[in-house]
Amino acid sequence: MSDSLRFPPPDLDMSKPTVARAYDALLGGKDNFDPDRELAAAVEEINPGTTALAHENRGFLARGVEYATRELGIGQFLDLGSGLPTVENTHQVAQRTSPDNRVVYVDIDPMVLAHARALMVENDTTTVITADVRDVGAVMNDAGARRLLNTDEPVCLMLVSLLHCFPDEEEPFDLVRRYLEPFPSGSALVYSHLCSDDAAHARTFTQRVHSSGTPWGRVRNPQECEAAVAGMELVSPSVDGAEPARLVDCDTWRMPGADPVDVPDKRIWEHA
Ligand code: SAM
Repeated sequence: MSDSLRFPPPDLDMSKPTVARAYDALLGGKDNFDPDRELAAAVEEINPGTTALAHENRGFLARGVEYATRELGIGQFLDLGSGLPTVENTHQVAQRTSPDNRVVYVDIDPMVLAHARALMVENDTTTVITADVRDVGAVMNDAGARRLLNTDEPVCLMLVSLLHCFPDEEEPFDLVRRYLEPFPSGSALVYSHLCSDDAAHARTFTQRVHSSGTPWGRVRNPQECEAAVAGMELVSPSVDGAEPARLVDCDTWRMPGADPVDVPDKRIWEHA
């Protein structure tokens, strides 16, 4: 049996947490172990409401995919740092609009591929690649990506709750440009990033994640998070398009009935 078909995957390390599994624990999933649950509980204790943030971020992701398919007519998605399969995954939302919509998931955590295979997520229109997204060449040259992504058509690039996993010296925002480069104008980015304007609180949160031993970056302030989309045309965050285009708390972005506010009533939020 090939290693990619084994479960649990042979390279699974259960001794320390991973971001994918700790995030799954925050979402109430079952694909996590004690160290992951400990990290999830610790960040919830440091920042009450972190669990809610994870759920809010998933809602934002679904609304972003919905917007890209229905409003922009985009039919292909490159979901980087996609996470463990949960509810309303990118392919489910995108393929509700059209079953022909294509989705390429990429995640470094081997559990993501194992679970996607178990759930039969992989098919003619959807693939899962186990790779480090920082290796852009490896992702774009992967057979699955080459099969499903057409660089002559606009793509929806998804960097949802991912770029805070990388420290500044790795220049995480450069990934936006490098991934979008081969695709034509009309492409879109669905983006969220853990954000705070309380530097001391952001540092405490960041230090706790670092102390768990999982590779991570940091919570950034609004101006830093906005650097990722510099030069891009932003979408109004309100459903009626009346609000000026800008990044907002992910929970208010195109959320029916929500009022996108300038400063979220949270010490940490997902800037989206
Ligand atoms: N995008 C999903 C969402 O918003 O619901 C999952 C977000 S989760 C907080 C971050 C994901 O990024 C995890 O699944 C983690 O394994 C993945 N990740 C972190 N570093 C990565 C890397 N270098 N390459 C690929 N995936 C990575």
